[in-house]
Amino acid sequence: MSSPPDSAVHVRDVVHVYGTGSDMVTALGPISLDVPRGSFLVIVGASGCGKSTLLRLIAGFERPTAGIVRTAGAAPVPGTGAGIVFQQPRLFPWKSVGGNVELALRYAGVPREERARRVPELLDRVGLHDVTRRRTWQLSGGQQQRVAIARALAGDDPLLLLDEPFAALDALTRERLQEDLRRVSEQTGRTSVFVTHSVEEAVFLGSRVVVLTSRPGQIALDLDIPLPRDGLEPDELRALPEYAALRATVGHAVREAAG
Ligand code: ADP
Ligand code: MG
Repeated sequence: MSSPPDSAVHVRDVVHVYGTGSDMVTALGPISLDVPRGSFLVIVGASGCGKSTLLRLIAGFERPTAGIVRTAGAAPVPGTGAGIVFQQPRLFPWKSVGGNVELALRYAGVPREERARRVPELLDRVGLHDVTRRRTWQLSGGQQQRVAIARALAGDDPLLLLDEPFAALDALTRERLQEDLRRVSEQTGRTSVFVTHSVEEAVFLGSRVVVLTSRPGQIALDLDIPLPRDGLEPDELRALPEYAALRATVGHAVREAAG
């Protein structure tokens, strides 16, 4: 069956098994899911429930054992079509901050003159100013992760995949990056799939939240988050009664799903 025309990500009857024989682990599924273009989907679930597996399938790093995965209507090809951000920033230490972003632009086929213009633009967009010439190790963990996001945005890929990108950061830095990512995703209009085990993070970021059961991950809850995507300060958003109610609903589902 083909994917719906507005579907940025189409997952149908997918099962993923690692290993063979007595080492066999069914990590995920069966699971079916469509992510409409421009939406921000957050996948929440306990550690080991198959979240990274799902993201790797969408990125094309893994082929599903059963079922179909499509991005923009076609089988995903690793390294194309999606910007990816991992828990660790994975920057190149031998390149400057600007050099890291520049390289991503070069891979994306952006001409040299345009790259020089776009590097500071992309860094600005993620809240980094005047760091272009710095070495990556001179930045804090939060700043490094901002560079990783700028790099993922460089390719103009319609899809952004994020695997617990803020999990290693302190609470305050984490909140700042969540706020900026929410704003950036609104501005760029990209489709995002964001994986986390934090209920708070899921409700704050997502336009939709999917809770997975413990392994093999299946959908325990699929909830639209009808909170305003712009016009409210983060603190105003967090203070809404609807926000608290949604957090409670998702939190309950996560605890139930973990069993
Ligand atoms: P999550 O990201 O939700 O923590 P993962 O998708 O990383 O979960 O893993 C789901 C399950 O699959 C876990 O039990 C994990 O141990 C197993 N798993 C993940 N990757 C592999 C692999 N390459 N080989 C074997 N088992 C794996
Ligand atoms: Mg994971």
